[in-house]
Formats: sequence, C-alpha cells, structure tokens
Amino acid sequence: MKQKKLMKAMPKKIKGIEIEPGCISCGTCAAICPEIFEIKGVSQVRESADFEKNEDEIREVAEICPVNVIRLIESE
Ligand code: SF4
Repeated sequence: MKQKKLMKAMPKKIKGIEIEPGCISCGTCAAICPEIFEIKGVSQVRESADFEKNEDEIREVAEICPVNVIRLIESE
C-alpha cells in the first residue's frame, strides 16, 4: 500500500505588523493589546513590541479591526 507523505505545516510566526493608511483611531487594538498597539493620532506599533508573547491578541485585533488595516508580516 502506498503511503502519502504529509507535509507538516509549520505554524507561522509574526515577524512584523504594518498599519496601512485608513485607521479610524477607534482604539480597539490598543484596548485589546496595549502591549503592542498605541494610538498616536492613528494606531502605531510600539517599539518594544514582543510579537511572540502577544501573538493571540495580535491575531485577534487583525481580525476585528473595523477597517481591516492591520497587516501581519509572517514567516514563510
Ligand atoms: S482597530 Fe483598526 S481602526 Fe481601530 S485603532 Fe486599531 S488599526 Fe485603527
């Protein structure tokens, strides 16, 4: 019997975050994940951001941002 080789998917890691133009400063990202996001006019990523430690929250806000401007840069 032939066995299929299964490619094991490696979980992607977050390497960076980009806030695209269009943020409406609703504050949702900073409220849910203040360790990563702060509002300075528009949302910005903190320099001290630890993506690995806050990965679940980052993915959550990227999903629920009302104008969908949070882009995750992930490992291949
Ligand atoms: S959730 Fe989206 S729209 Fe709201 S402050 Fe964050 S980036 Fe801006």
